[in-house]
Amino acid sequence: MEVENLENTLQEKCVICEENKASGIHIYHCFVCFSCERKIVSTDVNDPNYSFYVEKLKALNHMTKIV
Ligand SMILES: [Zn+2]
Repeated sequence: MEVENLENTLQEKCVICEENKASGIHIYHCFVCFSCERKIVSTDVNDPNYSFYVEKLKALNHMTKIV
């Protein structure tokens, strides 16, 4: 009898860093891991990284609207 790796099945692919993480939030139907969510909220609006995150999230928003 095989034992499934439950940790693996509980992980989801983060849309920002594209890594499989076990914990995070869902924005629309997409998964954002906690470390990326923290980065987004702690990033200054004038930081170039901020627009990178915003563009990623905008793209998601756009995709889910089409679907
Ligand atoms: Zn992430």
